[in-house]
Amino acid sequence: MGQWEGAAGLTTQAPRAAQAVTLPASLDEAVAALAAMPAAVPVAGGTDLMVAVNSGQLRPAALVGLGRISEIRGWQYQDGHALLGAGLTHARMGRPDFAALIPALAAAARAAGPPHIRNAGTLGGNIVSAAPTGDALPVLAALEATLVVAGPGGARREVPVSHLLAGVEMLRGGELVGYVRVPLLHAPQVFLKATGRTGPGRATASVALVLDPARRGVRCAVGAIAPMPLRPLEAERWVAQFIDWDNDRAIAPEVLTAFGEYVATACVPDAEPAQDGTVPPLPPAVLHLRRTVAALARRALGRALS
Ligand SMILES: Cc1cc2nc3c(=O)[nH]c(=O)nc-3n(C[C@H](O)[C@H](O)[C@H](O)COP(=O)(O)OP(=O)(O)OC[C@H]3O[C@@H](n4cnc5c(N)ncnc54)[C@H](O)[C@@H]3O)c2cc1C
Repeated sequence: MGQWEGAAGLTTQAPRAAQAVTLPASLDEAVAALAAMPAAVPVAGGTDLMVAVNSGQLRPAALVGLGRISEIRGWQYQDGHALLGAGLTHARMGRPDFAALIPALAAAARAAGPPHIRNAGTLGGNIVSAAPTGDALPVLAALEATLVVAGPGGARREVPVSHLLAGVEMLRGGELVGYVRVPLLHAPQVFLKATGRTGPGRATASVALVLDPARRGVRCAVGAIAPMPLRPLEAERWVAQFIDWDNDRAIAPEVLTAFGEYVATACVPDAEPAQDGTVPPLPPAVLHLRRTVAALARRALGRALS
């Protein structure tokens, strides 16, 4: 078990409200520490948690720091999948060796805030925070990734990322996200993000798109416009039939445009018809969002197939 320290002695970032911070060296030690202190809160990079502490929304009685658990800071290969440690930072995922493995996740990591945030913020924190603007989330949704959750007594269970984000399955008290299992598709993947301003910023809309040549599939997820990433499944199925999978994966420009519109209309639908059957126009801001999603989806597919 890692040592216990007074919060003030650990780092200048430790919240004053926290009575104790423990720094376990393994995932199972961290789970045991949480079991021993049910009021303790896990902290990885602290980039989301500290915002909540500093704004007074959260006053953790104790913290379990995950930063010294080396087993969750890298990745390994397993049965055609990559098993990504929850402690991987955005900065690490943005590097070329990782980008060669899972290009869309690397692109999302490179877009996740300014450098000091990317150096500290982790994949696991991004998932558990589950903010609509979490850049990794649409990528994990498109990849149909699965979480490996660590529980008491060395227990491990798997939870699809989409189930956690939709609230279908939750983390139980004392559980930690240990790893994220991602299929290795060996095909182009794209992540594109629109922000309200130039430079790093939170997404106003984002699109992750991956090709799955083995299943002749296109998988797409739209982020930031709803509480969780949206999958336009019909648009995915529709466009896959127009791709020349056996040759150069060519696609007609008008199909690209129609795909963008299909995705956008599925994710930003028309208003409900009025009593007389007429459909009221979308407010300008919503129309703008729909156009943004259409442009991102069209470009993402175009890049994946170029
Ligand atoms: C200025 C600023 C800009 C940002 N910009 C972006 C951006 O552009 N895109 C983006 O996606 N995000 C952005 N973020 C949000 C944040 O950096 C990310 O969500 C980051 O990935 C969070 O990771 P963390 O390790 O810092 O999480 P922490 O803050 O340590 O933890 C977040 C939550 O997850 C829990 N947690 C952490 N790890 C685990 C685990 N392994 N198991 C169970 N629970 C866990 C914690 O208890 C806490 O509830 C920004 C944040 C700031 C402050």
